[in-house]
Amino acid sequence: MSRSQPPACSPRLLALLLLLCAGQQSLAGRPLLVFLIDGFRYDYMDNLHALPGFRELVTSGVKVDYMTPDFPSLSYPNYYSLMTGRHCDVHQMTGNYMFDEASKKEFLIGTNPDSRLPLWWDGSEPLWVTLQKLGRKVFMYYWPGCEVEILGVRPSFCEEYVYNPSEKNLTDSIVSALNVLRSGEASMAAIYYEKIDVEGHHYGPDSQQVRAAVKQLDVAMETLNRQIREKGLEQQLNVMLFSDHGMTRLQWMEKVIELDKHINMSDIVKMMDRGPVVSLWPQQSRYQQVYSALSQVPNMQVYSRQEIPERFHFRGGRFVSPLTLVAEPGWFIAENKEMLPFWRNDSGEASAWQNGWHGYDNEFIDMRAFFLAAGPDFKSNVRAAPIRAVDIYNMMCRTLGVEPLPNNGSWSRVEYLLKASGGPSQPSSLWTCCLVAALLALWGHA
Ligand SMILES: [Zn+2]
Repeated sequence: MSRSQPPACSPRLLALLLLLCAGQQSLAGRPLLVFLIDGFRYDYMDNLHALPGFRELVTSGVKVDYMTPDFPSLSYPNYYSLMTGRHCDVHQMTGNYMFDEASKKEFLIGTNPDSRLPLWWDGSEPLWVTLQKLGRKVFMYYWPGCEVEILGVRPSFCEEYVYNPSEKNLTDSIVSALNVLRSGEASMAAIYYEKIDVEGHHYGPDSQQVRAAVKQLDVAMETLNRQIREKGLEQQLNVMLFSDHGMTRLQWMEKVIELDKHINMSDIVKMMDRGPVVSLWPQQSRYQQVYSALSQVPNMQVYSRQEIPERFHFRGGRFVSPLTLVAEPGWFIAENKEMLPFWRNDSGEASAWQNGWHGYDNEFIDMRAFFLAAGPDFKSNVRAAPIRAVDIYNMMCRTLGVEPLPNNGSWSRVEYLLKASGGPSQPSSLWTCCLVAALLALWGHA
């Protein structure tokens, strides 16, 4: 007489278990709404009693003293550090203007057709691509890069970037985002807003115009708070708000470093960007002369690739030039004063000088960004120590219930902000489910 065998794990039973596992995954985490507020310096909301929209978010949620951006303290590098949790030398988005020596292609702050080429974007997988791959939908509004196919994936919805979206664009995006998050159509919605950065560049960080733009944004935050209450989402939805960098004052034409006063510009094969950080590709035969001449220039540093400080997490990037120039705070590097980036003022003349800029050493106080968050996964009325741009990714993954990809963020710097601790994500129910399925399958085949 043979020993009785355990019942074989039938294909039907396995299929049922796998379905349950898939269900577990989609149930994990909560919907998330993120705001990327370009150029919003960490201290722009210091005067909270004048900003009831922000004040409500801060009292119901968490706020850190500041968030240190990645170097360079520019937009595209930080957009990607925020959404990948990786430093620039890992994700490869090292500038607003980039040049690929191998293909001779250029990335020009997202405006030229070549800026959509995979080589700029495929260096790392941003969170929205990971979510889409998991079958969870992401809706993005004016977010630079949402129109790009990254690693073969696009978000479910992308309202393409336009220059300086209006307040109406912003409030319409908020209403739309809350609707798709409430209905379950989207797991994450991401809204980009540029006005604070634009006004900061034109008029300077301490200007009346920046204060007015912050006040306008606060009105949109009041709308957000009201809509969350009206739709009954207070206990369902997490909201995170952050910026990419701060802003510092430029002093008219006084602090300009004119490169053509020091080097022969015909020795330079390629120059990318102007301002605090400039990338130079000198003719090979003239490299030493250019380097020596630039080493003498006051108020800036010239670095060969190997000399770039380790703390910038930058020098290993594949688009980093043979020479990188970094200006002292407040200084602006250009070929000469004719090549400064003027803008059209109210009378339509392209003659107005910019009064604010960013991109400097990321430890410079004025470059600091902000972070605040509210919702069921965050503590209430908590002020916390500073964090860094790469830290935000783990928090987004955690609240969404997604396993984070390897990254440079520090969990210990953000753990305090969240209600329940236990690690960068909580897929435990998923793991338990799959473990049970595997054991049953083994038992069935024993
Ligand atoms: Zn800017």
